[in-house]
Amino acid sequence: MNSHNLSEENYFDVENELKYCGSSQIKNFMDCEARTMAKINGEWQEEPSTALLVGSYVDSAISGTLDIFKAKHPEILKKDGTLKSDYLKAEYILNRIERDELFMKYISGDHQTIMTGEIANVPIKVKIDSYFPNKVIVDMKCVKDFEPVWDNETKTRQNFIDYWKYTLQGALYQEIVRQNTGERLPFYIAAVTKENEPDLAVVGIPDEELDKQLEIIKEILPRIYNIKTGAVSPQRCEKCNYCKFTKQLKTVIDYRDL
Ligand SMILES: [Zn+2]
Repeated sequence: MNSHNLSEENYFDVENELKYCGSSQIKNFMDCEARTMAKINGEWQEEPSTALLVGSYVDSAISGTLDIFKAKHPEILKKDGTLKSDYLKAEYILNRIERDELFMKYISGDHQTIMTGEIANVPIKVKIDSYFPNKVIVDMKCVKDFEPVWDNETKTRQNFIDYWKYTLQGALYQEIVRQNTGERLPFYIAAVTKENEPDLAVVGIPDEELDKQLEIIKEILPRIYNIKTGAVSPQRCEKCNYCKFTKQLKTVIDYRDL
């Protein structure tokens, strides 16, 4: 395996976010370059929503890093150290998962396996939820539901795997594992919903889709690298909270352009 000093504790530290591109960072850059760069530089912070924290709680419980998570997010606990009611849902989801043999099997690999590599000459880091050496790569997702999601850009409804770019994440993981081991392993998403009664599924993403996504990654990485090194200025999406917060009006607009 490529040598690196990355750990569960320092994986998202500023210096490692600057040095490497990871899956969430690439997805964030595709969403808004300006916000992502401001986030890396520490100029912009987003308070995670309760829904997001419920998902992270489930992730960390499964990967055995709940203590680190609780230390980083004291806001989920009451003064007496017990969970706030919003997060009891996370416990319910965990209990539901534990009742399913197939789901449990897929998430029982080596947890939070960190690897590094290089794509298009750009250093890459990955952190795999459940890795079975020589067998499969599994990422766990805690999602709102399994319904298609409306995509404002393409004006279509997309299935949640496409919408959240989990296919791109799979391509990144598969390629970095291949660089480290010489083996191309199948990629699965173990997904559970945050609905009152959680739904669950283990979803395979075919290699041909992962190939397509790897090509997309190769295309966008040089630009991301140039933005990170300051050679190119990041573009603003003008839709996200960061862009709204930093927007400066330069002129008036015609109402028909709204
Ligand atoms: Zn933006």
